[in-house]
Amino acid sequence: MVYDREKARRANTKWRKAHPERVRKIARVWYKAHPERARERAKAWYKAHPEQIKNSRRVIRETELLIIAQRWGDEFPRCRADATPSLIDVPCRGKLQVDHLNGGGREELTWSRLMGVCNGTRKLDDLRVLCELHQAAYAIHRGDSVGGSDPDEWQDEPL
Ligand SMILES: [Zn+2]
Repeated sequence: MVYDREKARRANTKWRKAHPERVRKIARVWYKAHPERARERAKAWYKAHPEQIKNSRRVIRETELLIIAQRWGDEFPRCRADATPSLIDVPCRGKLQVDHLNGGGREELTWSRLMGVCNGTRKLDDLRVLCELHQAAYAIHRGDSVGGSDPDEWQDEPL
């Protein structure tokens, strides 16, 4: 029998599609065994697909905001400065950001937080949505460099 490269390729693709979790497992083993080549491959892919990277990051960011907003009873993300009365004399401005109660944000990598929120493995109780201006206003209001909010000053309860 002659080896049909095209047929083999199709069979391979079909198998990969049918067993995504096996493919992921194999990939993980390969990445672990070849860290240098894995890094190079990833870099090359990132370089070749800048738009995809930008879009998927944006989608993940927006998904995270939406999940956190809904945790606090909002259908869509909005700045929750209204829950801290001392902040609302300043109007909202800037992009919506994730605010950490108690300022835990510095120790946690943004990317691991994003993934944890989006895949449901991270709890949401200490996260809120604030706009850039209110996040900055809050830091000044608290007078510290830790950032994040004080849970005692939030007036609404999670759902
Ligand atoms: Zn605001």
